[in-house]
Amino acid sequence: MRILITGAAGFLGSHLCDRFLQEGHEVIGMDNLITGTTDNIAHLAGHPRFSFIHHDVTNYIYVAGALDAILHFASPASPIDYLELPIQTLKVGALGTHKALGLARAKGARFLLASTSEVYGDPQIHPQPEGYYGHVNPVGPRGVYDEAKRFAEAMAMAYHTYHRVETRIVRIFNTYGPRMRLRDGRVVPNFIAQAIKEQPLTLYGDGLQTRSFQYVSDLVEGVYRLLHSDEVEPVNIGNPGEFTIKEFADLVNKLTGNQAGTITKDLRTKDDPQVRQPDIRKAQRVLGWQPQISLHEGLMLTIPWFREELRRRGEL
Ligand code: UDP
Repeated sequence: MRILITGAAGFLGSHLCDRFLQEGHEVIGMDNLITGTTDNIAHLAGHPRFSFIHHDVTNYIYVAGALDAILHFASPASPIDYLELPIQTLKVGALGTHKALGLARAKGARFLLASTSEVYGDPQIHPQPEGYYGHVNPVGPRGVYDEAKRFAEAMAMAYHTYHRVETRIVRIFNTYGPRMRLRDGRVVPNFIAQAIKEQPLTLYGDGLQTRSFQYVSDLVEGVYRLLHSDEVEPVNIGNPGEFTIKEFADLVNKLTGNQAGTITKDLRTKDDPQVRQPDIRKAQRVLGWQPQISLHEGLMLTIPWFREELRRRGEL
């Protein structure tokens, strides 16, 4: 296959490039590098089946030659990014998805949308199955991301029903691993960096809010299977192991040997979901997929990468 991956220089996009290249496909990576970095794909420079186009997908996308699939992963993806880049976040989810779908239609390519557990908002149903319509505040700080992704899902469905484009929608729950941005503000890089520096971990609020963390290789496998499946309706991909943020902090401190404990900060933003856990029965049924890597194992694969990254930046 010849595949276009938008957001290719991001955390998830770069891991997807690696996987599709490993499977023998040709990959064209596209990114405008506002939150992604070429460091994530530097190891692919000179690869005979990889090329990179520096482009903002909210503008008309031109790709020469045939395309079999488009994976639309371009978007800011961290709550602090939504505050700093609210318009870009809305544009890439809305206009960028429209452009990428238009390209899929023109090329007869299959289209896979990276959607998100944020479509469920601060959920009132727990865990969240795909049939839950969500509880989203459109005008809150997360609204720019949540509503853009909800619009993107609607747009993908419209292209499917009206233009007969083969579309797939993955709803991605919190994912972590090597190549996450050190300063993207999310809990995994924050806690790991703080722990390595032997600082107290910053709990926003009481730390009793929950998240369910999946290791990046499980996400990549789920996306790979979904692309090759016949499932048009959205599919949750996430690890159902649910932890309070306090429990997560204690685990990071234990695995890094950090003695500095935790401190409470009043930094919880409005609409920060109180709970989040994927119902993955659909992925198990239609994709035969379930996560393989426990939080403990995944952190043991991630912590050394962050240690190296901190050294590389001269922070250790
Ligand atoms: N959080 C925290 N300390 C930090 C960063 C985040 O307690 O240093 C909390 C945050 O308030 C949220 C949870 O951790 O409840 C997960 O936040 P993240 O930014 O990783 O992503 P989200 O799942 O909210 O999109």
